[in-house]
Amino acid sequence: MKVIKFGGSSVANPENIKKVFSIIQEKLKKHEIAIVFSAFGGVTESLLKISQLAKEGDPAYRDLLQSLEERHLDMVRQLISVQNQSTVMTYVKVRFKELEDLFHGIFLIKENSARTLDYVASFGERLSAFILSEALAGHGLKTQFLDARDVIRTNDRFGQARVDFETTNALIRSYFGKNDGIKVITGFIASTSKGETTTLGRSGSDYTASIFAGALEAEDLEIWTDVSGVLTSDPRMVYTAFTVPQLSYNEAMELSHFGAKVIFPATMQPAMKRNIPIYIKNTFEPENVGTKINGDVTKEALIKGISSISNISIVTVQGAGLIESVTGTSRVFKALAETEVNIVLISQASSEHSICLAIKTDEAYLAKEAVEKEFHYEIKSGEMEEVNLLHGFATVAVVGENMKHNPGASGRMFRALGRNNINVAAIAQGSSELNISAVIPQADLQKALNALHEAFFLSENKVLHVFLIGTGLIGQALIRMIASQQEKLQRDSMLDIQIHGLANSRYMAFHEDGFDLKNPYQLSEKDEKMNLNKFIETMEQMNFSNSVMVDCTASMDVADTYSRILEAKVGIVTPNKKANSGSMDQYLALKKIAKKRGVKFLYETNVAAGLPVINTLQDLMLSGDSVIKIEAVLSGSMNFIFSEFEKGASFSEVVKVAKEKGYTEPDPRDDLSGMDVARKILILGREAEQHLEFDSVTVEGMVPEDCVETASVDEFFEKLKAHDADFEKLREQAKAKGEKLRFMATLENGSAKVGLNSLKEEHPFSSLQGSDNMILLTTERYHDFPMIIRGPGAGADVTAAGVFADVIRIGNYTRE
Ligand code: ADP
Ligand code: ASP
Ligand code: MG
Repeated sequence: MKVIKFGGSSVANPENIKKVFSIIQEKLKKHEIAIVFSAFGGVTESLLKISQLAKEGDPAYRDLLQSLEERHLDMVRQLISVQNQSTVMTYVKVRFKELEDLFHGIFLIKENSARTLDYVASFGERLSAFILSEALAGHGLKTQFLDARDVIRTNDRFGQARVDFETTNALIRSYFGKNDGIKVITGFIASTSKGETTTLGRSGSDYTASIFAGALEAEDLEIWTDVSGVLTSDPRMVYTAFTVPQLSYNEAMELSHFGAKVIFPATMQPAMKRNIPIYIKNTFEPENVGTKINGDVTKEALIKGISSISNISIVTVQGAGLIESVTGTSRVFKALAETEVNIVLISQASSEHSICLAIKTDEAYLAKEAVEKEFHYEIKSGEMEEVNLLHGFATVAVVGENMKHNPGASGRMFRALGRNNINVAAIAQGSSELNISAVIPQADLQKALNALHEAFFLSENKVLHVFLIGTGLIGQALIRMIASQQEKLQRDSMLDIQIHGLANSRYMAFHEDGFDLKNPYQLSEKDEKMNLNKFIETMEQMNFSNSVMVDCTASMDVADTYSRILEAKVGIVTPNKKANSGSMDQYLALKKIAKKRGVKFLYETNVAAGLPVINTLQDLMLSGDSVIKIEAVLSGSMNFIFSEFEKGASFSEVVKVAKEKGYTEPDPRDDLSGMDVARKILILGREAEQHLEFDSVTVEGMVPEDCVETASVDEFFEKLKAHDADFEKLREQAKAKGEKLRFMATLENGSAKVGLNSLKEEHPFSSLQGSDNMILLTTERYHDFPMIIRGPGAGADVTAAGVFADVIRIGNYTRE
């Protein structure tokens, strides 16, 4: 069961109601629903205004009542077919006759109690829900009109009644048990045990919907309104306000308490108690996801929203009497509580000489009266001053659970207000640190909201939280690059990259606020011993919404944790080829998890370091191209060896030089075997959407058989010398044909091979010198002339740069 509620703006006119009906039809395809309606937009306001006029003895109330009746009759005419109109017309006319009598009474006795006002207001929802229930029935739905006064029981605090949940829940469940059909329910209204009509407070239909959702243990509650969810601020005041995708119940409660009218504060209670998610959706843009309110606390932004309340007065209670009597403060609050005055904000200096309260202006006089009555004797004797009232203020509040973990919110708030020359009359921060609020001049309200919005949201950088494993050459280079680009990224890309976790094979360390990258942290014995499981656990516990694990190791153990990391919604960037060159199943599984969890797994540096090979291939495939052939020189060491060999020295000598210059692995056989190239072509093949296993790659290595088993590298060189003549022969043969020897990988017709080739002079690889890599992509589109990617394909700096580019890509991706 879903409970869905449509506010007054959604049902303001027949055109809007059409949209509402199509949303309902859509929901009914998949769900059982109960529907709560507010009065037609503006009707509650009109009813209250008519009562006021009648009370003042102004006969103009009659015209207003008449036009209100006309508006309702017109709705009936437009929403209900002629043959079904008469019962509904009669219902409407009978209600308006009752209203007429009621207002006539008010006009005569010139009295308008809270009890009467609740009864008057109840007509709005009773009329709208009844008409809409009948209109839906006309569309073939089996509806059941439910006057919520029959099931919601409250006390008799008219105007803002308190719900008796025990009785209410039982009544709702029993009603739903006994009655079939789609319940179409009046929002806002309820009744006392004596049957007197009450209301739940202005805008209380949200609350009605939540009461039903709670009683029925609904799967969720949807509040449909005229904006796409809860926005960062009131869109009428701040034009740049945007939808907040998710709020915790507490955040939503706090924002609405401080004036975000989009949802009624008490709405959260019944839903929160049963952990029912609330969705705020836009009737006029139903495809927009809107806002989800649930129990989750995310750490994404410093604050979630800014709200405000207008027409506030500052009520100051002061005098020595407050200090001298221990009970002074409590007497102030007791007096105010008895008047049921709503205190928006309290601030008291530790000197306790005065208490300053922000109270809605229309209740401020009541507050003054109550406090002065309580301190009657003290005021008379001069121990206390008369209560001072100052009008013309507003409150602004910034709200978000994340302020608890991050100092600096109040600094940013008051800097923004100060810079804009806005005077702050009082400040308060809730003890739960969920809000900071300030009282400012009403005249500055819009400016203040925009200044705060700008300070917290528009200049707010996206933070990407990095956890780095592997602090070798690549890891170190990466840290240096992030440090040197940090400011530019913050300024130009609004991206703030912070490193929160660091580990090498021996130690690990974490920093809640991010390590200072300008003085790179050195892991040492004083840090915790590295434990991969614990590293991941800590990363999960830190629970940043935007995190990425960067694996700069070549470790299989780290690669084995990728699926768990992606499951935890943490992205991965890595030059480590282990995961992608394992089984095809594993390769596909990682892609699937990343997709399911909505995170990125980027590994551009798996092949040819920072050269844009994998991204290019992925883009080609995404845009509908298909790969016919890949030829690639993917080993800088092998290319160095063969392009040097051409010049005349013996093969074993060239390999030795390559090793001495650091172009090969410590054991050159690791390069000569071709295994590393095989892994790379395997990954490229998979990116080209070919189903390839490592075993199926044909590898013709360059390590002569008798050199494979030798124990030491020196011994290997000794043995290799004996093969110089064979290599010499290869060189001569190639030379005779005017060809060049190149160690390369080829992927064609679904099979991959790696080995030495003799290439014609005009082949692009023939001109390749030194340790460069080169990749030729022949595709459906790049058919006659392949796409060529060429450049240094190894080295800590170019690899780190490629890793860094992937990290930035994740930062930009998570921004949307
Ligand atoms: P409904 O008639 O659907 O109950 P309301 O008028 O009660 O709608 O509430 C929606 C209105 O709340 C929006 O049109 C918007 O002007 C106002 N509002 C105030 N603050 C916010 C906010 N932070 N986010 C969204 N809307 C807000
Ligand atoms: N109609 C009522 C009001 O205007 C209740 C609501 O709309 O939620 O206050
Ligand atoms: Mg509302």
